[in-house]
Amino acid sequence: MNGVKTHYSLLIAGKRAESSSAGRTILDFFLQLLLISAVNFSFFYVEDQPVNIKALNGFKDILPGEVELWQRLEAVARDIFARFNFSEIRLPILEKTDLFARAIGEATDIVEKEMYTFVDKQVTMRPEATASLLRAYIEHGLHVQKPVQRLFTIGPMFRHERPQKGRLRQFHQMDVEVLGSISPRVDAEMMAMGAMLLNELGLSVSLELNSLGCPVCRPGFRASLLAFLDDRHEALCDDCKRRSATNPLRVLDCKKPRCREQVLEAPSLQDHLCADCADHFSGVQAGLDQLGVHYTLNKFMVRGLDYYTRTTFEFITGDLGAQAAVGAGGRYDGLVEQLGGPSVPGIGFALGMERLVLLLQQKEAEAPVSGTDFYVAGIGEQSSRHAFGLTHAMRASGMRVAMDLEGRSLKSQMKQAGKLGAAHVLILGENELAAGKAVLRNMVTQEQQEIVLQDEATTVQTLILQLKSS
Ligand SMILES: [Zn+2]
Ligand SMILES: [Zn+2]
Repeated sequence: MNGVKTHYSLLIAGKRAESSSAGRTILDFFLQLLLISAVNFSFFYVEDQPVNIKALNGFKDILPGEVELWQRLEAVARDIFARFNFSEIRLPILEKTDLFARAIGEATDIVEKEMYTFVDKQVTMRPEATASLLRAYIEHGLHVQKPVQRLFTIGPMFRHERPQKGRLRQFHQMDVEVLGSISPRVDAEMMAMGAMLLNELGLSVSLELNSLGCPVCRPGFRASLLAFLDDRHEALCDDCKRRSATNPLRVLDCKKPRCREQVLEAPSLQDHLCADCADHFSGVQAGLDQLGVHYTLNKFMVRGLDYYTRTTFEFITGDLGAQAAVGAGGRYDGLVEQLGGPSVPGIGFALGMERLVLLLQQKEAEAPVSGTDFYVAGIGEQSSRHAFGLTHAMRASGMRVAMDLEGRSLKSQMKQAGKLGAAHVLILGENELAAGKAVLRNMVTQEQQEIVLQDEATTVQTLILQLKSS
């Protein structure tokens, strides 16, 4: 930045025919002004012509029909998180870029090329939730309030990746973290909670487990892995050739067949754990066994982020074409301290909501529609006016009610009621209304009955009874 303090923005919107040339004249004037002054200007020139603006590539609208699955996913998750005594924390989407560079690691793909950063403001849209959550944990001294904090957060994350099925640039995660416990039972409990959630959603997902060791034992493993990779350097892909110098562990989870073949016989971290890490790892497995959670050990799972220590795990599905992770996490015992906080251990995992919704869609074929209890059909102005007031009173007493405000025919109103899946339709005809009556139709049984219209409150009570008895 050049140190100019004042920044002016100018928006010129013009009607295409008449004033766009006038707009340009004004624009020219300001450009001249810009040239002769040291003032910083931004110009936004909006031409008033019909344009076809679409969502950005990798950004998606979640429409009614699909959104019900998202709501169900969230509802089941919130229920289970509460059962495990987790509290919600809501975090901002923008953070200082430095937070992610420090927490995630400068040499990671995320920080190197995938972040949405406002360069001039040095802020970034969060690419994951853990860093922000830890920033909040430290900033508010949450470790002082409770020695063990159990927190979850749900929301959008942003990464500039190549969009593909189930992977968007704005994607959504449910993120769960436990801070302040070193117990291997916490690790087991986290995985058991994830498994319970997926199970209650009716999804069949497998759990894979590994230990990445700690700063004591990982250097020894790294050295023996480097020696192993040295002999095979030429056979590796270009990415892995580069990685073997900067982050050799990443070579273990390269997806390219040639690399997978090369690392089949690679040394396993599980054989290089120090005594403490080995104890912890067997404690985790004993916990999972006790809770009846099935898992397999996977020595190739190293996770993309630098901060993981000891336990790492992934929930994997084979139902989305190739093997895909729907959730992943692990321990990060040094990270809070590294971010300027107290020396507090942590473990967490995130579930990818897009992929879970895809799985739910495959399973259910159709999303459950949000229910409508009543459709109130008024025919003619008098009846519509009556229906308008009655509908409002019904909604105020807790019923889900739809009505037509466009003066449509009874036939098209009945069609609309069917589309909405309304359980009952209350038909207010002019003659019936004059006689103080209405027709109530049960849309499931097709039975019709006449009800007496009294004052609004009494009618509402009658309808509530109808709803309960159906
Ligand atoms: Zn260790
Ligand atoms: Zn590779």
